Amino acid sequence: MISPIIDEKTIERLRAMINGVQRIAITCHKSPDGDALGSSLALCHVLRRLGKDAVVVTPDMAPKSLEFIPGVREIVVFTKHELRARHVLNDAQLIFCLDYNALQRIDRLGELIEPLKTPRVLIDHHLDPDSVFDLSISFPEASSTCELVFRVLMQMGLLRFLDRHAASCLYVGLSTDTGGFAYSCDNPEFYEILASIMRRHIDRATLYNKAMNTFSSDSLRLQGYAISEKMQLFPEQGAAFIVLDKEELERFNYNRGDTETLVNKPLAIPEIYWSVFMREDADRIKVSCRSQGDFSVSEICARYFNGGGHENAAGGEFSGTINEAIALFHRILEDLFPNTNQSQEQQTTEQQ
Ligand code: 5GP
Ligand code: MN
Repeated sequence: MISPIIDEKTIERLRAMINGVQRIAITCHKSPDGDALGSSLALCHVLRRLGKDAVVVTPDMAPKSLEFIPGVREIVVFTKHELRARHVLNDAQLIFCLDYNALQRIDRLGELIEPLKTPRVLIDHHLDPDSVFDLSISFPEASSTCELVFRVLMQMGLLRFLDRHAASCLYVGLSTDTGGFAYSCDNPEFYEILASIMRRHIDRATLYNKAMNTFSSDSLRLQGYAISEKMQLFPEQGAAFIVLDKEELERFNYNRGDTETLVNKPLAIPEIYWSVFMREDADRIKVSCRSQGDFSVSEICARYFNGGGHENAAGGEFSGTINEAIALFHRILEDLFPNTNQSQEQQTTEQQ
């Protein structure tokens, strides 16, 4: 049985909020991933089937690799259609905030939403949600926001509106946010939710392949290069570190999304339990961290990179040069493991 983890009062309030309005905007975080897009589009499909005028608005473009998710082409992208995005948000009577926990995570969309009096509903699984939401459905222990959207629909009695398209969207987030059912999916109810999604006749194998195992040749070569030439290992601190600068990214015709799962790869090595990836973007250094077990990378990202996320998957950014960012990584190693050795020999021994 899938237990009703969201309290009934919250569900009642949400029902009243949805019943009372016609125009609904759904937002998700910048650089949207499979969970952000999947949860937003699934909710949008269901709300439309309920007769609502629902529109998904994202801060920036979905990566090419996720264009297969049903409904992606109808998204209003702020950086592309600013006027339309402004209109949708100003005109909305209810705003859903999916897969993020603070308005800073949606860039300029946040500045736009902040002064609006429109009620905001949070559905999210990141730690420490802000208190700027009128209704908060926040479960950091959930696998994904897609899982939470399923639970919301179930508790509202709306699962009959979850059709094949919407179920396909949810499947994408359930698979990508668990690294292809590798982590954050120990709750048996997760599989009951999957079973319910499977009953909607989704094309599971194709969705999984597109979401988890499809890369351009440039992306695959870039990842190979990063692992072979750029991965540094610090076995004494259980750490791996990969940095890609602008020149290297250009050499491999980098496109958004091309390095999406790279940071996970070093965790395949038995003695490595945390991994840091830095990418030199146009205006900042993007930082991604992953870990295994009870080593929390969200604290590291919050403390050093103005970011956050989950215990085992977090991110942030650094404003400064790539060399300053690399120096900061070494300082973090010193801070966290003051009496250990960071010598190059250890790394090269490990790499041979
Ligand atoms: P990724 O490394 O894939 O960009 O992000 C991993 C996780 O960390 C995601 O759950 C994402 O929401 C969170 N995250 C990534 N970048 C940031 C950031 O700049 N700030 C915060 N607060 N969280 C981030
Ligand atoms: Mn998520």
